[in-house]
Amino acid sequence: MTFPPASLAAMQRIYLDHNASTPTDPRVVDAMQRWLGAACGNPSSIHTEGRAARRAVEDAREAVASLLGAETSEIVFTSGATEANVTALRGMFGAEGRPSRLLVSAVEHASILEPLRSGSAAGAGTVLLPVDREGRLEPAALEEALRQPADGVVLMAANNETGALQPIREAAELCAAKGIRLHVDAVQLPGKVAADVASIPGVTSAVVSGHKFGGPKGAGALWVRRSTRCRPLLIGGGQERDRRAGTENVPALVGFGVAARLAKDELPARRSALLAAETVFLNRLQELGVGCRRNGPLDPVHRLPGTINLLFPGRSGEAVVMGLDLEGVAVGLGSACASGAAKPSHVLSAMGLKTEDVLASIRLSCGGGTSVGEATTAAERLHRVLSRIDAAPTFLHVI
Ligand code: PMP
Repeated sequence: MTFPPASLAAMQRIYLDHNASTPTDPRVVDAMQRWLGAACGNPSSIHTEGRAARRAVEDAREAVASLLGAETSEIVFTSGATEANVTALRGMFGAEGRPSRLLVSAVEHASILEPLRSGSAAGAGTVLLPVDREGRLEPAALEEALRQPADGVVLMAANNETGALQPIREAAELCAAKGIRLHVDAVQLPGKVAADVASIPGVTSAVVSGHKFGGPKGAGALWVRRSTRCRPLLIGGGQERDRRAGTENVPALVGFGVAARLAKDELPARRSALLAAETVFLNRLQELGVGCRRNGPLDPVHRLPGTINLLFPGRSGEAVVMGLDLEGVAVGLGSACASGAAKPSHVLSAMGLKTEDVLASIRLSCGGGTSVGEATTAAERLHRVLSRIDAAPTFLHVI
């Protein structure tokens, strides 16, 4: 028998895990390719090749700044959002020797929560801000926590697991009134909703990552509002205006810049495609009589288009994800986990779900290129997977 079997090889795969990573846009690949060959200049060199590389990096910086509504000089390129988040956290700590108090939503990404938990952000005292059952921060909880002095607040713009949009404007007003920094993880916005968080007064820093919207992996940015302190993580050759040392990854940054420009210019089209895919998928599930609950905000105004977190009571989310993979559909189990091990999602847990319901949940995330045909087929394949799981002896789906 050949592998994969002909039946599987012929099956059209449907990728619905865009919140984990997106396919690199062919226009991005094209632009990057020019910087992978002889065009090898170091952007810090003053010869022709070096200056050409510098121009390419600065073009990309302009595109990322425009996406975020920021000044070009305020953009610091990094290896991704993880590095950018950690750098932002360092900037928020109090003066050396004084313990800090950071207010952080309970549903932040691991690149915020883990450095604070593990002590690599030494000296930071963390107050976890609760979210409601839909996964949104209640501004009143932040207002209450801000009654005591704080060094900074961290609130993601949109949650990667549920798509919940956080009340950034309200949080920014509260922080600005107290003169407290507000760092926003904007990773999930570009290409789905407007990402110009730097234009919101009161937001002092933000991060994005290229591979979440058609760019390459390994390219991200930290935006820090002018005259806001930035404490570099990497110190060395003085690149990025002394805010992030190391020779710039020119091909990746060029790709990141093109992806940023496209995400901004094509936002209306991508948004409509995401909404159409989501609607068609959910309607087809309903037609097929699939019983499930949706985790996250019910009101579409409060969530990202195209992110669908579903709870299948009594089933194993892992079994559903694996079944879908065999059916040619790639979806996520909460957030992508480096170890591959299914750990109950801290996001769903913070929303008050019981552990058994957390473990019975999966995340589908469409992309701007997801077609309604793919969405319909994915719903039909999901229906097949669930029917198969329900027909199997129970011990198979409670692992
Ligand atoms: N923040 C959020 C909300 C994310 O979804 C991710 C990626 N899963 C990150 C930060 C980390 O981004 P990167 O992969 O660029 O390190």
